[in-house]
Amino acid sequence: MTTLFISDLHLEESRPDITEAFLGFLNGKASGADQLYILGDFFEAWIGDDERTPLQEQIAAALRSLHESGTEIYLMHGNRDFLIGQDFCDRAGATLLEDPTVIDLYGTPTLLMHGDSLCTADVEYQKFRANMRNPQWQQMILQRPLEDRQQMARQLREISMAKNQGKEEFIMDVTPEEVVTDMKKHGVQRLIHGHTHRPAVHKLSINGQPAYRLVLGDWSERIWWIEATGDNPPELKYGAL
Ligand code: MN
Repeated sequence: MTTLFISDLHLEESRPDITEAFLGFLNGKASGADQLYILGDFFEAWIGDDERTPLQEQIAAALRSLHESGTEIYLMHGNRDFLIGQDFCDRAGATLLEDPTVIDLYGTPTLLMHGDSLCTADVEYQKFRANMRNPQWQQMILQRPLEDRQQMARQLREISMAKNQGKEEFIMDVTPEEVVTDMKKHGVQRLIHGHTHRPAVHKLSINGQPAYRLVLGDWSERIWWIEATGDNPPELKYGAL
């Protein structure tokens, strides 16, 4: 009995080493797992399921083969790949998960999020996020020609990089009060998320009881995952890229 969580792979053509590491992860660690949860920013960019690049097709096929071997695959949107749709999920044998979602992890209710919604100190970003997540806006974008969307993605990336450069460290991290509020709201003592690229296990107290926030790491320098079994609490692990 094993459940695995990963996030923030930021798969892209210019990082074939990350793609290789992920394919290795699927054939190794993930092989035989009950569930694989991918908690956002799986791809560095996503402008619509109709793009169908060789990389996207390769990843979909690899996920489908894991799915067909009996592993359930769940995919949550991140702030970079929030346009992943049903079409890609069908090809990959994956189920789209809402952000946030509470799952029953071997008897313990566990809150899953990408994590960007917790960074409430970044007011400007939260406004941007609200716009991007608007279904009408998304429909409008997806109807534009592929070349327009590719151009737009490049621009957004440049703007985002420029804006983040001047931001203070605490603004880029989660707001501690928001974590507690969300965990209380969902009635959980455990939260798993990614996004911040600050892998760690944080112990906190919720309603006078010990609680845990597990943060996944990004795959730019090493690979990170969380492994849960029926017998042990979930563990944050890493390996060489
Ligand atoms: Mn993110």
